[in-house]
Amino acid sequence: MRYPKLRELKEAIRALIKGPYTQRFPYVAHKPFDSFRGKPEFHEEDCVGCGACAQVCPARAIEMKDEGDVRTLTVNWGLCIFCGQCQANCLTGKGIVLSQEFDLAVVGSRQELSQKIEKKLLLCSCCGEAVATFEHILWVSKKLGPLTFANASLMLFYLGDLGLAQYKEGPPGSEAEFSRPDRIRVLCPRCRREAVLKS
Ligand code: SF4
Ligand code: SF4
Repeated sequence: MRYPKLRELKEAIRALIKGPYTQRFPYVAHKPFDSFRGKPEFHEEDCVGCGACAQVCPARAIEMKDEGDVRTLTVNWGLCIFCGQCQANCLTGKGIVLSQEFDLAVVGSRQELSQKIEKKLLLCSCCGEAVATFEHILWVSKKLGPLTFANASLMLFYLGDLGLAQYKEGPPGSEAEFSRPDRIRVLCPRCRREAVLKS
């Protein structure tokens, strides 16, 4: 016959005095540890819509879709593996944060297990391609400080946001030949290269 070890005896006595180790969830709410990785949630006011989280997500649980001048970011908790990569690689560090929520069961559709946010896109004034979201460009401008003025698109947008310049928003719908003044327009990288080469 094997006798219980001292450690097991100690645990049994402790459980008798202090109560069982197991919890009465779901009858009693469970509070996870501070470092627990639960449901990732977008914090819309801190997210600039850069899409880095969608690119690094190994489970492809974050979807990014550009339609017209709107970028939609959706996090699907049904696909999420709670790895924390989205939070770790978030541009602002606060745009998507893993909460302590783990009880995600739903009785309805899987669509309920998602969160969607929308951001306004800045479009190239020549071809109409998305350049980036307004908030992303503003974030980059502020980060760069005076270096913002080294890039015409950033400079125009930055000054436009301050009400000191006007930039043409949206696609002109023409494949016009570039001339020198076209360099000072909000352009996507491809059109900027063409503008520089052709003008
Ligand atoms: S926690 Fe991991 S799997 Fe879940 S959304 Fe973030 S990066 Fe994707
Ligand atoms: S700011 Fe953060 S949460 Fe928002 S799109 Fe970029 S990486 Fe994702």
